[in-house]
Amino acid sequence: MAEPRKVPSPVVTVETQTFWNAARERRFVVPTCGACGKAHWYPRAVCPFCGSDKIEWREASGRGTIYTYSVMRRAKEPYAIAYVTLAEGPTMLTNIVDCDFDALAIGQPVGVVFVETQDGPPVPMFRLQ
Ligand SMILES: [Zn+2]
Repeated sequence: MAEPRKVPSPVVTVETQTFWNAARERRFVVPTCGACGKAHWYPRAVCPFCGSDKIEWREASGRGTIYTYSVMRRAKEPYAIAYVTLAEGPTMLTNIVDCDFDALAIGQPVGVVFVETQDGPPVPMFRLQ
């Protein structure tokens, strides 16, 4: 069994602090606009749809589908990066883990898992459902 890929610690900023605090508790939250009700990704101070600053962090289902993906086979420890479209609407750049890379396909359902990092909060990634 190959050594698991070392995941670098995420950079925590003012706009992402709430997200990472939730991640430490293994809660997956996405910024959602209190004015128009739409969720967005990445975190921003104002809603990209309507410009409101009434952003709330709402617990997400952790479910999504693969929008597109790419397998980094030449890396020392190969890994899959993907855009996953969350059930709540937004699409996020992430990794697909614990999978047979040859089994990946666009449109497959995935679920969130939290992966430990070197010395920061765990990072949400996805695995096939
Ligand atoms: Zn809005």
